[in-house]
Amino acid sequence: MSRSKVYFVSANVPIDYIPRVPPTKWYTHSLVYQTKELAGKILEDVISPGDTVAIKVHFGELYTQCYIRPIYVRKVADKIKEIGGKPFVCDTLFSGGKVLYDEHGEASWSRRSLEEGLKTAAMNGFTSETMGCPVIFADAPKGLKSVEFDVKGKFIKKIYIAPAIAEADVLLSLAHFKCHDVMSVGGALKNVGVGCQSKQGKWWIHHNAKLEIDREKCDGCGKCVPICPTKAIVLSNNKARILTEKCIDCAFCVDYCPQKAFTSRSFPDILEQQARVGEAAAGVIKYFQGKCVFINLAIDIVPLCDCDPFVGIPVVPDLGAFASKDPVAVDRACIDMVNDSPGIPSSMAEMSGVMERGSEKFNAIARLRWKATPGAMHVAPDWKIMLNAAEEAGAGTQRYELIEVNFGY
Ligand code: SF4
Ligand code: SF4
Repeated sequence: MSRSKVYFVSANVPIDYIPRVPPTKWYTHSLVYQTKELAGKILEDVISPGDTVAIKVHFGELYTQCYIRPIYVRKVADKIKEIGGKPFVCDTLFSGGKVLYDEHGEASWSRRSLEEGLKTAAMNGFTSETMGCPVIFADAPKGLKSVEFDVKGKFIKKIYIAPAIAEADVLLSLAHFKCHDVMSVGGALKNVGVGCQSKQGKWWIHHNAKLEIDREKCDGCGKCVPICPTKAIVLSNNKARILTEKCIDCAFCVDYCPQKAFTSRSFPDILEQQARVGEAAAGVIKYFQGKCVFINLAIDIVPLCDCDPFVGIPVVPDLGAFASKDPVAVDRACIDMVNDSPGIPSSMAEMSGVMERGSEKFNAIARLRWKATPGAMHVAPDWKIMLNAAEEAGAGTQRYELIEVNFGY
């Protein structure tokens, strides 16, 4: 396979731009402006006039600090309009049903319900007014419907694309690139493989069997019965039972059981989960038949994911924006540049002993995170599994040509 092109604009601006650039054009050296122009470059031959473009982002949660700043998304949406597309900005609902609240009654783990998720999106700056286009959850209102698409992965045989994303003509993944506790890295593959799927799709990323009820634990209280949106739970002989043919794997019921009788709580092998994400991302890409592009914003490169309220300080300095038509190549380019960067003192890079340029950072930081988690000492994610699986499933290649560009004055 030949090398994929990855375009890169640096977050760094040499100080000598001050005498060279008239103040009226200083904005052209903003990474926001550069990302907008980068989006135009990568999208110009993908968007046909009138195409609907799904901009898939992560809205963050109420207390998260380092999701993509809304101004980047707004400017990319403006660019899409400029080149003839009709953008909408979207995220998808999280698996499960129970929203968690802070001490003031604000939803702090909100994306399990549309109403709370939209409130969080607005709190974090994503509204139709700020974006200049619709802002939606692509599997609203409940995350129960999907567009199914068959794939031929080693683990994944079917993906469940969120309906509004599946209806779009073009998919633009606009991902915040950072470390990730489960996948080791969070970038294009994660944003597409997990983020573009409905609750059912998310289930099959994280599990390899349908939900079950432990009859020993179930005391027959019946609280789960009215919770199920498809009436898939019945009581018989004072025990709950799932009607498998009616269950759509939404996990809505799991957190409502006082006895914790639903057996979906344990993570299956984490390396298999990573392969599943890679295969699922390849499925989404195949579905779009070349009408998808990927931008990773490698800034605020924190050790944990965009759902986590505690992310600590960045582990390496800001790098910039990367864009490609190949999600494997764009993630690999970001990984390589992070690993080539020096670690930031006092960050989890220092705590993991990976401060030097050239040291592998993501897996070391993910291991540190899991070592701190009671009962999870053994968990050791490895980003190579996800990238290799995506590559084997035809999503792209880890061989890339990095082309630095600058759209400044
Ligand atoms: S909520 Fe839990 S304990 Fe109660 S019936 Fe359902 S599965 Fe059984
Ligand atoms: S039984 Fe199945 S369909 Fe019903 S709430 Fe649970 S996971 Fe969803």
